This record gives sequence, C-alpha cells and structure tokens, in this order.
Amino acid sequence: MPSLSDQIASRRTFAIISHPDAGKTTLTEKLLLYTGSIQTAGSVKGKASARHAVSDWMDIEKERGISVTSSVLQFTYEGKCVNILDTPGHQDFSEDTYRTLMAADAAVMVIDGAKGVEAQTKKLFKVCTLRHIPIFTFVNKLDHDTRDPFDLTEEIETVLGIGTYPMNWPIGSGRNFRGVFDRNSRHVIAFEGDGHANATKKVNEIEAELGDPALDELIGEENHRTLMDDIELLDGADNEFDLEAVRTGRLTPVFFGSALTNFGVEPFLKDFLRLAPEPLAYTDVLTGEKVEPSRPEFSGFVFKIQANMDRHHRDRIAFVRICSGKFERGMSAYHVQGDRTIKLATGTSMMADDRAIVDEAYAGDIVGLFDPGIFSIGDTVCAGKPRVQFPQIPTFAPEHFARITQVDTLKRKQFIKGVEELAQEGAIQIFRELGMGMESVIVGVVGVLQLDVLERRLKSEYGVEVSRHPLPYHEIRWIQNDPEELDMASLNLSRDTGRVEDMRGGRLLLFTNEFNVNWAEERNPELRLSEFGNVT
Ligand code: GDP
Repeated sequence: MPSLSDQIASRRTFAIISHPDAGKTTLTEKLLLYTGSIQTAGSVKGKASARHAVSDWMDIEKERGISVTSSVLQFTYEGKCVNILDTPGHQDFSEDTYRTLMAADAAVMVIDGAKGVEAQTKKLFKVCTLRHIPIFTFVNKLDHDTRDPFDLTEEIETVLGIGTYPMNWPIGSGRNFRGVFDRNSRHVIAFEGDGHANATKKVNEIEAELGDPALDELIGEENHRTLMDDIELLDGADNEFDLEAVRTGRLTPVFFGSALTNFGVEPFLKDFLRLAPEPLAYTDVLTGEKVEPSRPEFSGFVFKIQANMDRHHRDRIAFVRICSGKFERGMSAYHVQGDRTIKLATGTSMMADDRAIVDEAYAGDIVGLFDPGIFSIGDTVCAGKPRVQFPQIPTFAPEHFARITQVDTLKRKQFIKGVEELAQEGAIQIFRELGMGMESVIVGVVGVLQLDVLERRLKSEYGVEVSRHPLPYHEIRWIQNDPEELDMASLNLSRDTGRVEDMRGGRLLLFTNEFNVNWAEERNPELRLSEFGNVT
C-alpha cells in the first residue's frame, strides 16, 4: 500500500482554460484517449453527446446545447493520479470556472494559433494570477494556418504580462505544417498526418536531428532552413528555462500542437506532468500558517455547488478540494461555518462519463459531497485538531445586473429563500440596495444566460414568478476601506453610481462605465477599490 505522502505526491490537479472554441474540449478528450481513460473520441461532451447526458440537468442546457456545469475527470498515467477540473464551456458560466481555478494547482491555457490571446483568455488568466499558480500554454490548431509563432509568444508576453519559454517550436502551419522541434531533446518530431482529423488515431512521430540532411527531405529544404534560423534566435534569447519562475506563474512553458489531429498532445502531457507541482498548501486563516497536504487529518473547502439534476429534490452536491490528509466515505468532520460535526455522507467523483462513488481520496483530489443545503461556496470542512479554516473564495465581478422583483407579494418568503439559496450555491450574486426592502434585489451575474437560469429555477423550484429589469451597470468595485474609516453615503460619486451591500456585508459601488470608476477614484482619494470581493 502506498503511504499517505506517496499518494499525495502522485497527485496532479489542474484546470484547462480557453476562450470558447480554442480547443479545450478536444485537448481534454485527447488526454483521456492517450491515457486510456476513454476508448473513443466524442465521449467528452461533444456538444451533444455522451458526456452531455451527465450534466444535462437543466432544460436550458438541452435547449441551447451547452454545458453549464463542471465536474472532475480523474485518471492515472505513468504513476501519477491526474485530476482535470473540467470547466463550463460556455462563457456565460465562467464564474464557475473562476471558482474552479481556486481549487487547481496549475492551469493549462489553450490558445487558438490563428487568433492568439482572446478576451476570455485574458479574464481567466487574470484569475489564475490571483493564486500565482503555474500556467502552461498549448498553442493549438497548427494544422490550420496560424500566426507567426514569434508574434504569438510576444503577444502572450505583452498582453498577459507573463514570460514565455517555448518547449517546442512549430515547423510551418496549415497545409505546410511539418511538425515541431523539441528544444529539450533537440529533435524534430515530424507530423505525418494528412492534415485532417482522424480523431482517434495516434499520429506517428519521427525523430531526426536538426541539420541532418535527411530533414531536408522530411520537412522540406526551406522549412529546414527557417527552422534553423528560428532556433538560433530562440537559443540566443536570454530567457533561460527557470523552473522556479514557472512554479510561481511568472514564466509559461509554451507547447505548439494540434489537438484535433493528435499532434503534440503526448509530449505535452509528459512535460506537463514532469513540471506541474504536487498538491499545493493552502493557508489557514486562523493561524496564517500553511496547511501542508501531508497533514494526516483531512481538510478541504467547498469551491462549487451543483444543484440536483432531479428538480424534485433540493439536495445538492458540494465539490470539495481536499487540502490535506485522506478522505474516507462516511467519515465525520467539522463544518467550520456551520459550527458542527457532520458525517460526510456520499463522495462522488465524475469519471469520464459516469459517476462513481468514491471510498477514499487524498489531498489534491476533489470529492463531491452530498449536501442537504448546509454548505456555501468557500466553506471549510476538517477532521482532527487543531481545526483549520481556509480563506474565502474571492467573489468575481459580475458583468450584468438586473433588478429582480417578485410578482406575487404573498410569496415573499419563497422569493427570499430562493434567491438566497441560489446565491449560496453560487449561481448568482445578490445585492441589497441601501434603504430598500427585500421585495426586490439586485442580481449580478457574469453571463446574461445566468439570469434566464435564475428565472426558470425560481419558478420551477420555488414556485415564484419574478419580473426582471436590466440595470445599466457594467463595472463593479468592492470598497476595501473599513466602514468606520469611510462612510459610503459621504462619497462624492456620479449620479448613476449605485451603492449596495453583498450577502456578506461587503460594500460595493456599481458603475455604468470605466470612466465613472476613474471619476470616483479621483474625487475620493481615500477610497480603495478592488475588482474582487473577499480577497485575502
Ligand atoms: P472549446 O470550446 O475550447 O472546448 O473548443 P472545442 O474543443 O470544442 O473545439 C472547437 C472547434 O475547433 C471544434 O470544431 C474542433 O473540432 C476544432 N478544433 C479543436 N482543435 C483543433 C485543432 O487542433 N485543429 C483544428 N483544425 N481544429 C480544431
């Protein structure tokens, strides 16, 4: 039996992030194919296929053919137990993705080689930097015409503000794509595909050294010459491979490949597993000390809550990132925020396309706990003493706002219960307008579609009909100053700026545009604003 520390040391837990359509799903699927976790392509949420059935718990998902929920894919490969934290494909549900990143030890950023850094990539990257986790870049779709690789790496550096270290280098792209040069082995790995997607076939890789005349034949004389020039330039650049800089998120190793044609996926996985960190230590806010993953007693925090797929049962699944020790099904643990000891009833883990009951799990793993409605996002559960408590998960800035008002005033109780429970679950954020009652609330969401989900769920699960009035706010800032230090009413603000409180008593300002944010900062020099709530 492997020891507790061996079990933990073998864990690698990461999330894949991308702008929609860059190839996240395809890459995930290829990783599962390579590692033998699935046998056929198309099993991972091919937009209307097998995997979809798992998360297909809401009509909205079915109607619009998108995957709203996220889960965890676990597999073992070369002695490592790998957890891929799956994230919703649709950007309207990116708040779930943001929270999932709080439970990951590394991120893989997939970039479409023709498009470069896109809007959603930037947002997700910003969230990754909150935790300084290592970020690995996979530049995808080399089988299509892509931008110049020097351009792409420069864009990553300037737009995202992270150093790049190309681990391999592409030879041509599109019809002219011939393979990559691996900078570590100094070999050319030739692309043998016909440029088309045979999704399940592994592409043959042929190795040959740079300068070898045989390469002229393999990749073409001109490509060979360009490659030698490129590599000379790269080797001459003075950014060395610095593992420490990778581990702290200051340098991103960059891989070029084509997920669809399977090219470059296996070398990427191998290097990634070599360089990605073991489970990271989270901070205990009670002592300010790190809780080492090898602490024998179990501890973890809730980063995501998923409502029951069966709408007649209010139970939910609370996804817990295990931060230390070992989880055993049915064990007792202390729920810090609820201040009581509970039995951790059911552990489920999402395998590639079915749910399996988990009997035991270790630091770095994710377990889905049965939740009768007691957990909120960010809650800590821990066994043994001394007790620990993990930091709150940051609250991410919603981008759309609406005032939601109950239509039938007799249903006040259900309305409040509904919005509060859905907010607790993390589906929406709710705000109280200063001086207003609870017959209406301001709801903030990252994507507009979440408002549709809210209306539907209030109606079907709580029997409450609501009306919705969009509000013109686009920028949200949490006030960092203490209430004693700064009175919200006394701030000098433009007339269209909203003053509200969140569920945890945090104070915020809602602005209609960036200009008014700057205006407020200039007029109120003592005011300290943050784009994230609860950042510790
Ligand atoms: P996601 O939205 O990031 O999960 O992207 P998907 O994996 O669903 O891919 C979006 C589209 O790009 C799909 O039609 C894929 O078949 C296609 N695609 C993904 N990877 C590649 C690639 O390496 N080459 C090409 N040509 N197309 C790709």
